[in-house]
Amino acid sequence: MAHIKTQLVVLGSGPGGYSAAFRAADLGLDVTLVERHPTLGGVCLNVGCIPSKALLHVAEVINEAEHADSLGLSFGKVSYDLDKVRAYKESVVGKLVSGVGAMAKGRKVRIVEGYGRFVGTHQLEVDNQGEKTTIEFEKAIIAAGSRSVKLSFIPEDPRIWDSTSALELRQVPQRLLVIGGGIIGLEMATVYEALGSKVTVVEFADQLVPAADKDLIAVYTKHNKDRFEVLLSTKVEAVAAKPEAIEVSFSGAQAPAEPRQFDAVLVAVGRSPNGKLIDADKAGVTVDERGFIPVDEYLQTNQPHIWAIGDIVGQPMLAHKATHEGHAAAEGAAGHPHAFHPIAIPSIAYTSPEIAWVGKTEKELKQEGRDYKVAVFPWSASGRAIASDRSEGKTKLIYDPVSDRLLGAGLVGIHAGELLGEITLALEFGSSVEDIALTIHAHPTLHESVGLAAELGVGTIT
Ligand code: FAD
Repeated sequence: MAHIKTQLVVLGSGPGGYSAAFRAADLGLDVTLVERHPTLGGVCLNVGCIPSKALLHVAEVINEAEHADSLGLSFGKVSYDLDKVRAYKESVVGKLVSGVGAMAKGRKVRIVEGYGRFVGTHQLEVDNQGEKTTIEFEKAIIAAGSRSVKLSFIPEDPRIWDSTSALELRQVPQRLLVIGGGIIGLEMATVYEALGSKVTVVEFADQLVPAADKDLIAVYTKHNKDRFEVLLSTKVEAVAAKPEAIEVSFSGAQAPAEPRQFDAVLVAVGRSPNGKLIDADKAGVTVDERGFIPVDEYLQTNQPHIWAIGDIVGQPMLAHKATHEGHAAAEGAAGHPHAFHPIAIPSIAYTSPEIAWVGKTEKELKQEGRDYKVAVFPWSASGRAIASDRSEGKTKLIYDPVSDRLLGAGLVGIHAGELLGEITLALEFGSSVEDIALTIHAHPTLHESVGLAAELGVGTIT
């Protein structure tokens, strides 16, 4: 059995883990990064953020080509070679994971491949197909991430997918059911609809992307009404894998009366943290009932020499949250404690149109019983949106009625996610709506809609 002594071990090489490992190495620690897969990058780079965005780009190109009539252009029905589309997606992933590998090498971060489990307060055992390595560490950062939630009543069948199998892009089913109308479900629905599937999305809540404000979703739904069938306030009751098709029965407000047949079913009902799969108890680290690891504002667990970051510590399960937590934990481990206190963590559904929000939503403010004002700029008045033939969007700023201070924002429209950067910065800097209104935004741009919404808020629009 191999034996390694290290100052810091990082368990898991996703955005949280590799960011923590790199920052700790930059701060002078001897770092060992443990990953069960042969490539670094975790869910995000291998089977999450990146492959989904590569396929969403393909979908957007198809949609633009097939809906260019209003511009006086006609490309006809787009044809594709699925193997080449898959190869494109894999080349995108390949570039990024090899980049992370090179950055690890450049920083002399030691990589140990295999499945890691704690065997003591300062020991981790890594199993690589029976070959074991013991790692003795002074400090540890747990970044073991999350996995797709499985529904117990849904059988195992190659036609029943989670997000990872959907991203493999092995085939394009004629009829696809997406269970779960959250971000991941809608992104995959967008990809498969563009490739030619007839897509039904079923959502238990009374709106798609339940975390976002309803007015944003209304714009999204209107734009996509002919693309997807959406069943809201509806539950999947039973799923039977029959030889000819997957048969699904529903109950609830918009449930079809009879069971329906699908050629594939994607289960996208959320993600579950991996806290219970690493023998954290052997290190004395508390894990809650759901598998999350409780941490304080420094990302420290109940064991002062062990930190935890990313999906395994809680919502929002987003790569950029994991990265920033990784930096804070690494700085703590290197003796420069840094509390993690973000004012704003942006959320984006990279659908068509995109749905994006940051800071407080109206929904949250209502629940808190807090007064607020909104200023909405409709993209039907945006020169750039009209010129791009995509004027369905809107930009909404939410602010305090007394101080005018920005509290949050919600956008829907093409590239809405890109417009969130400015607003996130404004929130972190404590800007008022007037600060944004007085900032000169280039004309004609989509980000101009942020400035114009602010001008509407302060009443200076001309
Ligand atoms: P992960 O990325 O989950 O990495 C954990 C790593 O630990 C994995 O590589 C795993 O193999 C490894 N590991 C786990 N246990 C062990 C063990 N015992 N031993 C060794 N290795 C272990 N987020 C965004 O911000 N933007 C997006 O656009 C986005 N799109 C997504 C699309 C999809 C389809 C999915 C599924 C997720 C998406 N996410 C997105 C979420 C994002 O991927 C996660 O929030 C992010 O990857 C979490 O990072 P992490 O470092 O906590 O863990």
